[in-house]
Amino acid sequence: MKIRIGHGIDFHRLEEGLPFWLGGIAIPSDKGCVAHSDGDALIHAICDSLLGAAGLRDIGFYFPDTSSEYKNIDSKVLLKKTHDLIKEKGCGIENIDCVVCLEKPKISPHIPEMIKTIASVLSTDRENISIKATTTEKLGFIGREEGIAAFATALISKH
Ligand code: MG
Repeated sequence: MKIRIGHGIDFHRLEEGLPFWLGGIAIPSDKGCVAHSDGDALIHAICDSLLGAAGLRDIGFYFPDTSSEYKNIDSKVLLKKTHDLIKEKGCGIENIDCVVCLEKPKISPHIPEMIKTIASVLSTDRENISIKATTTEKLGFIGREEGIAAFATALISKH
């Protein structure tokens, strides 16, 4: 068995009046992500970390934002397809550790539900998914509430 690691990051612009999807759930917020899909930055970062760990390409390669097939798509579908791609390469998830960087809203109360949702899509134990949250102390585009960043590191095993 080989252990492999992958890293993924994603950014999205925030605008008022859009639904805010993060970690596979809708979170009450004044602003949501501008995106071709549902704009779930956390799931997109997780997808890229898994693809990277498996030695595959990136989320834009498999699910291009120029394709009408992926317009407004639920990112959980992309996560499921990504999981299928790494399974085809003989890879299984060990654990995924994530950080969401966002000024508002506070996502801490929603983390258990996000973990439950992601673990369910990936058919893994909740203890294998970790989500942490931080702000940038009002600095930069995240501090000005103009955008969100998400980072994920995935450890997978290949048989
Ligand atoms: Mg994205």
